[in-house]
Amino acid sequence: MEAATDEAAPAAQATLRCQFCGTWNRIDAARAADKPKCGKCGKPMLLDRPVALDDDSFARTIADSDVPVLVDFYADWCGPCKIMAPEVDKLAANYSGRAIVAKLNTDLAQNTSQSFQIRGIPTSIVFLKGKEVARQTGAVPYATLATMLGKAGL
Ligand SMILES: [Zn+2]
Repeated sequence: MEAATDEAAPAAQATLRCQFCGTWNRIDAARAADKPKCGKCGKPMLLDRPVALDDDSFARTIADSDVPVLVDFYADWCGPCKIMAPEVDKLAANYSGRAIVAKLNTDLAQNTSQSFQIRGIPTSIVFLKGKEVARQTGAVPYATLATMLGKAGL
């Protein structure tokens, strides 16, 4: 939407836990295409596919990231979740560097699911600096997910 010509704009940081070693990393989201690596183990921090969150990583990721975070609350047994999964994958690839696209397994992360009163899955929620700005329950297409990110300024 906005051209990245404003040199005074601070870098948008994403705060993510390494999927391999569990170390927290601060990453310049705009450099996602440079394939950032974990500062501890050196394995890639994959920003172009959905990031798996759990009860331990959820709060810090959504609160400490400058870029919007879209979370797909799902479960393995949920048919509509499976139907929606490719749309979520596509969103992660297309918004790499501008947003974090994440998935949270509601069976494993029950504390988070309860605190956000997830009553049906899939549920998609967009957070901006820790605050919920959009929510949709049910399997939705890519365009709807993109519209939700639009409510966070994308
Ligand atoms: Zn690591």
